[in-house]
Formats: sequence, C-alpha cells, structure tokens
Amino acid sequence: MKSVRIHEHGGTDVLRVEDIPAPEPKAGQVCIRLKTSALNHLDIWVRKGIPGVPLPLIMGSDGAGEIYQLGENADKFSIGDPVIVQPLVYCSECRNCQSGNENLCEKMGIRGESTDGTNCEFIVLDEKFVEPKPDNISFAEAAAFPLVGQTAYQMLVNRAKIQPGENVLVWGAGSGVGHMAVQIAKIIGCNVIATAGSDEKCAFANELGADKVIHHYKDNVAEEIKTFCGKVDVVFEHVGSATWDVSMNVLNKGGRVVTCGATTGPKATIDLRHLFFKQQTVLGSTMGNADAFTQVIKRVEDGQLEPRVDKTFSLDDIAVGHEYLEHSEQFGKVVIEI
Ligand SMILES: [Zn+2]
Repeated sequence: MKSVRIHEHGGTDVLRVEDIPAPEPKAGQVCIRLKTSALNHLDIWVRKGIPGVPLPLIMGSDGAGEIYQLGENADKFSIGDPVIVQPLVYCSECRNCQSGNENLCEKMGIRGESTDGTNCEFIVLDEKFVEPKPDNISFAEAAAFPLVGQTAYQMLVNRAKIQPGENVLVWGAGSGVGHMAVQIAKIIGCNVIATAGSDEKCAFANELGADKVIHHYKDNVAEEIKTFCGKVDVVFEHVGSATWDVSMNVLNKGGRVVTCGATTGPKATIDLRHLFFKQQTVLGSTMGNADAFTQVIKRVEDGQLEPRVDKTFSLDDIAVGHEYLEHSEQFGKVVIEI
C-alpha cells in the first residue's frame, strides 16, 4: 500500500511516499481503507523530531474511510461501513483508563506519533478505536475534526469547565484547534472573543460565531478585551510565549487559563501574587478522553459543530501540505486525500 513515512527527522524532504505491505486484522480488529487523513501541528513536531518517535513511522493522526476487512470476532461493523479513526491510543485497563481518563493512560499514545498513523491506504485498529462516520459530513470533513475537536472539547468542557455566560478568549481562531474551540464555547453558551492574524481569518472567526473578533497583529488585544467585556473568565491557549503575558493579564478573578500547546515557544512566567490573590488556575491539557471523542462526534452529527476543510492535498503532495500548515495559512483544516 501507499504510505507517507519518515525514516529520520528533518525538513519536508524526509517525508517519503513509499509502498509498504498492507496490514492484516487480528481478532477483534478491523482493517479500514482510508479515504482521507488530515494534518495537525503535531505532524510538524513529529517530522522535526520529538522524543520517543519510533522510526520508520507512518505519519498522520486523523483518518476516515470504509471498513475493508474484519478480523475474527470483530462484530461492531460490516464491510463497507463509513468510519472515523480515534487518534488517541489507550489500553482500557490501567487505573486512569478505568476512571475515564484515557488521555492519562499509562500507555497513552497518539497515532502518527507513538505508533503508525493514517497517511496511508489501509490501517488496522482494535474496534474500540473506530466509530461510525456521521452521515451529514463528507470524508474530508470526517478527517478534519477528531484530534482538534477532542482536544478543544477536553480543554474547555472537561478541564476549564466553561459555563454559559462566561467570557472565553480563543487565540488563533483560524487554526484547527481554534476553529473547534470557538464553536464549542458557543454551543455551551459562552461569549467568545476570538483572535486571528489576518483580515480573512478574522472574517472566518466571525462566521464561526465569535461575538468579538480581534486582529492580534493590528490591534491591542488587552485593550480590545477591556473595552468589550473587561476581563475574561477562560483563556484557550495553544500559542505559548508570544501570547502568555496577555493571557494572564486579561484573566478575571477565578479565571482559568487552559493550554495544549506552545507553538511560539515553551517558556512563560507567572506572577504568583496575581495567581493566588485572584484565585486563578493554570491547566495543562493533552488530547481528550474517550468521552470527549464521543461528545464531539455527537455534536457534529447534530449539526451544531461544523468541521471546516480549508484545503486538500493528495498523498503525493504531502510535503506541500506540511509547508502550507507550517506557514499558518489555513482557515480550519488541511486534509489529505488518499
Ligand atoms: Zn490505560
């Protein structure tokens, strides 16, 4: 089968489109013929080199396709069923899995990072990692939301516990995770202040339902927030060093900053006097638990949450797709057609 693998870390030239044997399902597993995959910032980190990546590795965390083959005793699906792939890998047996915190699993992993991913024609998975594709979305849209939707839902609902009427700041609404966060916060009934880095992305954030949109290069974000609502109750952080100080400065008493990334750098400072006196909370978050995945699929199925596909590339053009994502040109998701 055709696949995109890396054998070493580096620039886009390490992405190799190559032919490898297709996997066979074992008992309780299914083989999916993938139609679409999607790119995440994680792909760029993995390509450039993060600890613990087994090489060679098939890239890609998100995927959608049709059931192609059933292993023994696999009875959740029939051949031809349209399905989506759970990007999170977990054991279901450890203490954290048993308490519903699969993203804290002792053997936790992400497809395309700790184990082979979805930039390929066929993938074999345990049935528990496969869910039916909602009928109201395309295969491209089906690959466009799992990792970012699950991540954003976990951050806002499970970690920051956003409440109706709260003011929520979402940095980078044009990004994959940002465009999910704006919509999820609106579904819960929050006032959403979204930032974006171009006029086109600001228009996109407006269209997603943000109540106030701020151009984070042209406007003073803290001043705009002060005029609009004073302070915010929750900050959705994934940018890192470049935005951290503003995130802390605009935070209300009792506010929560929840972060899942540090695209612009990992170092940040906190004034502990402000943290304790204002009784604020800083929350780290990675991926989402199994329930977050189910909840996000349900909202997509209900039509409340719309995954947005910005652009699609073929598997052969994977390097161009990586460059496009790396230059932050997208509104929503970059999808790979297989
Ligand atoms: Zn576990």
